[in-house]
Amino acid sequence: MAKALPTLKTAASIPLSQGRINGDQLTLMAGPCAVEDRGLLLEIAGVLKRAGVSILRGGAFKPRTFADSFQGLGETGLKYLREAADTNGMAFVTEALDTRHVELVSQYADILQVGSRNMHNFALLREIGRAGKPVLLKRGMGATLEEFIGAATYILGEGNDKIIFCERGIRTFSETSRFTLDLAVIRRLKEHIPGCLVIVDPSHAAGDDALVPDLARAAVAAGVDGLLIETHTRPEEALCDKDQAILPSSLEELAVELRALYSLVRGHSIVA
Ligand code: PEP
Ligand code: MN
Repeated sequence: MAKALPTLKTAASIPLSQGRINGDQLTLMAGPCAVEDRGLLLEIAGVLKRAGVSILRGGAFKPRTFADSFQGLGETGLKYLREAADTNGMAFVTEALDTRHVELVSQYADILQVGSRNMHNFALLREIGRAGKPVLLKRGMGATLEEFIGAATYILGEGNDKIIFCERGIRTFSETSRFTLDLAVIRRLKEHIPGCLVIVDPSHAAGDDALVPDLARAAVAAGVDGLLIETHTRPEEALCDKDQAILPSSLEELAVELRALYSLVRGHSIVA
């Protein structure tokens, strides 16, 4: 490693408007890739609430490969997210794609997401840090551990320690999944930043709904504090990432297993 990793401290417990994120229980964040429609979002959120999901997710500003793809509903999407979260007693997380959106997104969201493509956008990291809200920091798809930790220093530098690290798969030669889920990063992060919160997004790593449950179980076994899972009631009609969305009802079943596994793992104190 080129440079010794800095000694950092990030929050071990993050209070939200509804509940908190800490190592006492598995935190589930779920929802559609993008907010598409008010009724659909309310329907999805209702089932997720029953599944014990405490944090709704959904993109209002979407980072898309092609400029003519659906880019999200913008502020209207943020309003729908706030309504769906409040109706169901949930918090919500959504991406702030650009420095110009941070203020607006902060007015609605409980947690600001830094997307994988923006992990190296230092101006955005600073702006998001300054907003003072909890931050879900996704690992760049080509970022090393050092770079991932380095990104957190920009947020910490603004006096914001409410950082949740999120492994979402990295780009490798393997074509077995959309990205390759690097589960070793969980322990490495916790070694370098004792007590830090780490979650895994099996959906973007998988790129395929059939792989999501296995990757989610593996992540829990490897010591994560939570999971971010894309769900949609009609995946085939989803405007974004339809191949990887699972049904909210499938998550309801999976959540029971994941919680049992989490208790087993925590009982054995596998995390340093
Ligand atoms: C997302 O969470 O919808 C997303 C775009 O994720 P990532 O930045 O990890 O690709
Ligand atoms: Mn997505």
